[in-house]
Parts: sequence; structure tokens; C-alpha cells
Amino acid sequence: MRVALVTVGDELLAGDTVNTNAAWLGSRLAERGARVERVTTVPDRVVEIADVVAAFRETYDAVLVTGGLGPTHDDLTMEAVARAFDRELEESEEAIEWLEEHGNYARADLAAGTADLPAGARVLHNEVGVAPGCVVDSVYVLPGVPEEMKAMFESIEREFAGTVAHVERVRADEPESALLDRLAEIQERFDVKVGSYPGESVEVKLESDDESEVARAADWLRERVESG
Ligand code: ATP
Ligand code: MG
Repeated sequence: MRVALVTVGDELLAGDTVNTNAAWLGSRLAERGARVERVTTVPDRVVEIADVVAAFRETYDAVLVTGGLGPTHDDLTMEAVARAFDRELEESEEAIEWLEEHGNYARADLAAGTADLPAGARVLHNEVGVAPGCVVDSVYVLPGVPEEMKAMFESIEREFAGTVAHVERVRADEPESALLDRLAEIQERFDVKVGSYPGESVEVKLESDDESEVARAADWLRERVESG
């Protein structure tokens, strides 16, 4: 399953907020075997959000959008997703009733627009905050506030599945440039995906659907790099 993430918010582009939602979703989806192949951040502008959602849903099996929910002036994501599907925004009676029952909100106290969703969307309730999310076809719309986003993702994560890759990590205490010969050879010898991530040490990440292949590759490499 190939997934694209769209993170919405001027604050992300300005660097005022670190995009932890993308990192968290990327790792949770990988654990389930769904592969994030694209992360795009867009400003709080309807046309830009709508264009990227419309394009990605053609290419990916699922699109997850975070941020820009609710009734604030810069919360435009629902309008944009409706536009991407050529649908109207409609107040969701189901979402309002859920907020009355579970959130103890009086209908009259909910800001206008709080429960507006693209027509025909499936409601995702917000267990932590107020603004509901939704699902339209393969597009999942979640809040921006990390705690709200995580709780809502957990209510739908079973819809994301795939073959979970087996991963082994090998630490090498050598400059990355010195490792090039072994990084080339390991890819010839074994059917594994190899990532090389330099930091204080170099972390070599080996991945394969075949657990024994990745274990053999890791053993082979561990015997041939300096560590400690
Ligand atoms: P609400 O449900 O409260 O209306 P929202 O969906 O409208 O939330 P935003 O208004 O986009 O969310 O953002 C709310 C807060 O969440 C922002 O102040 C920002 O700090 C944080 N946030 C938004 N997007 C991200 C992200 N991708 N990674 C980390 N934090 C984020
Ligand atoms: Mg908001």
C-alpha cells in the first residue's frame, strides 16, 4: 500500500512548527507495512490543498491529510477536500450528535462550521479535541494538533496494511566514504534494500520482506565493519 501525506499549515512552512505529524505517521504506517512515498506540506490556502489532494489520490492508494480543521479563519482543509472531490460542504448531523453526547457540547455553543464535512464523508470523531475528521474515498483528513491526530489515526489504522519489511540496523564506526565498497558489495550479494545514514557513526539500515535474507546480510556486514 502506497501512501502520501499532506501536512497543511503556514506555520510548518515557516519553520515555526516542526512537522512531527509526518514523522510519526511515517513510522506508524511503516510498522503496519504501508509505505509512505510522499510528504508534501502546503500553505493554508484552499486551491493549493485541493490541487495536491486531487493529484495524490490518483497516484497513491491512500492520502492522509493533517491540519487545518475546525472553524478558525485559517482552517480551510475541509473546504479544500470537498473541492478536490467536487462536492459541497455539509454540516454533519452525526458529528454534532457525537459532540453533544461525548463532548458535552450544547449544539448552540459549537462554532458555526465546526462540523462541516465534504458531502457523503465518513465522520472520524475527535476523542481529544473538538473538530471532527473524515474519510472521503481513499482520503483521510485528520487534525493538526499532534495528540488529536494520533488518537484519530489509531481509530483508522487497521485500514492501512501491507507486508511489514524486516529491518536490521548495523552500526559502523568508519567514515561513510570508507564504507562504499561494502555497501556496493552487500547489494550484489543479498536481495536487500540498503540505507546509509551518517551521524556520529554510520547507521546502515537493511530491509527485506525475507527475514532470513536480511539476517544473513546483517551478519555479513557486521563481520566487515569496524564498530566500537
Ligand atoms: P483543531 O482541531 O484544534 O482545530 P487543526 O486541525 O485546526 O486543529 P491546525 O490549526 O492546523 O490544526 O494546527 C493546530 C496546532 O497543531 C498548530 O499550532 C501546530 O502547532 C500543530 N500542528 C499542526 N500541524 C502539525 C504537524 N504537521 N506537525 C506537528 N504539529 C502540527
Ligand atoms: Mg486550527
